[in-house]
Amino acid sequence: MEEVSKIYECAHCNGTGTCTSAKEGSSCAHCIKKAELKSNEPLFGIACGTCWGIGKTDSATSRLRHRTPPILAIAIIFASFLTIIIFGSTNNVHFPETLSLLGALMGSVITFYFTKAGGK
Ligand SMILES: [Zn+2]
Ligand SMILES: [Zn+2]
Repeated sequence: MEEVSKIYECAHCNGTGTCTSAKEGSSCAHCIKKAELKSNEPLFGIACGTCWGIGKTDSATSRLRHRTPPILAIAIIFASFLTIIIFGSTNNVHFPETLSLLGALMGSVITFYFTKAGGK
């Protein structure tokens, strides 16, 4: 059991919290994208997208960041399926509305995570 999580200096920004990994100390496309900025000009001083500008990263939080969203997506999809099954089998009057609502929800969740995974 690893009780104490190791703290590392972020490899991407060398522990500064600011991304300077692109040309002439400007911020790289990855971090600009993470900061939800769009620019054709080089941007400077963008917070590091790997450690979220903290400069330090530890194994536990990075693990959490990578694993939490898919678990959440699976939970939403699972809960949606369960609701559909329950409503369908009990002939609930709201079943058609629920089905379309949950269908749309699942669709957006699946699209979101698949787009994200494909863009890596
Ligand atoms: Zn960093
Ligand atoms: Zn960067």
